[in-house]
Amino acid sequence: MSNSDIIRARDSEYVAHTYGRFPVAITEGKNAVCFDADGGRYIDFTSGIGVNSLGFCDEGWQRAVIAQLSKLQHISNLYYTEPCGRLAELLCSRTGLKKVFFANGGAEANEGAIKCARKYSFDKYGPDRSGILTLKNSFHGRTVTTLSATGQDVFHNYFFPFTEGFDFVTPGDIGELKAKSEGVCALMIELIQGEGGVVPVDREYVKKAAEFCREKDILLIVDEVQTGVGRTGSLFCFQQYGIAPDIVTTAKGIGGGLPLAAVLFGEKTAEVLGPGDHATTFGGNPVACAGAVEIIGRMDDKFLAEVLEKGEYIKNKALKMPHVGGLSGMGLMLGISLSDGIKSADVVRAGISQGVLLLTAKEKVRLLPPLTVTCAELDEGLAALEKALAGF
Ligand SMILES: *Cc1c(COP(=O)(O)O)cnc(C)c1O
Repeated sequence: MSNSDIIRARDSEYVAHTYGRFPVAITEGKNAVCFDADGGRYIDFTSGIGVNSLGFCDEGWQRAVIAQLSKLQHISNLYYTEPCGRLAELLCSRTGLKKVFFANGGAEANEGAIKCARKYSFDKYGPDRSGILTLKNSFHGRTVTTLSATGQDVFHNYFFPFTEGFDFVTPGDIGELKAKSEGVCALMIELIQGEGGVVPVDREYVKKAAEFCREKDILLIVDEVQTGVGRTGSLFCFQQYGIAPDIVTTAKGIGGGLPLAAVLFGEKTAEVLGPGDHATTFGGNPVACAGAVEIIGRMDDKFLAEVLEKGEYIKNKALKMPHVGGLSGMGLMLGISLSDGIKSADVVRAGISQGVLLLTAKEKVRLLPPLTVTCAELDEGLAALEKALAGF
């Protein structure tokens, strides 16, 4: 048995079977290169699903995390810690939003946003304006409430009763948004639907929807759990859309590999949640926040411009590969459409054999490389992807 087989067998015996895993155990990595338990080498185009923003084991991030870990790992939200406030200050100064609530993952951040939206409306209009609209084909998380918020029927199964008060609108259809806006306190959207297949939402629609929401005092929540923290070439994707959301949620990339999420509140929502209204034990953990301060600090204009350049580089190369029908996405959040009936999961499996880790997003092959991926790593990973595709 290989080392990977031993790890896999133990996992299958004792870990709940909630994930379909590939038969590889990854043991270590540096930037966009990683190794499995048997010495196999891979270029990582996944970042652990958009999490490892600075790749594996970035030295600046490691230093920040270890320094904090050597001082204080946790104290609870009953006391102040410095990293939490420093990170919140950075997030606010870089976005124009006003206050931050820290959580641990995307679904939990979205729960916080939903609670805030409902309380905003309750305080101002009373209890009958609690509806929340989200987009068809969206993904907002796996808790009972964020499944309700997710605009895909496949997620509305087994776990009844789901949280009430959610309805779905078609991206691009302003008329439907207006028609369904009665009794609604918030519209929650992704700007690029990630799990839905790396599908960008039309810019003009987003602008019009934001305008309509402002007129009606319907809060605009932008779910940047996947698009946030540099992924699309700006610190947050909404900054490229010319809109001013009332609430922004983010998670995956902000902790660089440690569990961390944030809900950013704008002018209208900054004071809605008060003591006792919302809390989470691990929220704002000083170790995760100290790492995130380093991550956000690294994302200056030059860094973000490079994310866009690398994205264009991938697009140009990938479009010339066999069986590639098209490319969607922005920055280093990209989806490759396949032609000739090829299944995205089969391409991911072929990629593993060629030494590149890839993701799927529905029928597309999704690429979320670390934002620090080097030109040499890009070339090596793209060559492996091309070989994988040529095998079909
Ligand atoms: C991944 C994701 C979530 C859920 O995040 P978790 O950390 O898995 O709870 C929510 N929204 C979007 C847009 C995501 O991509």
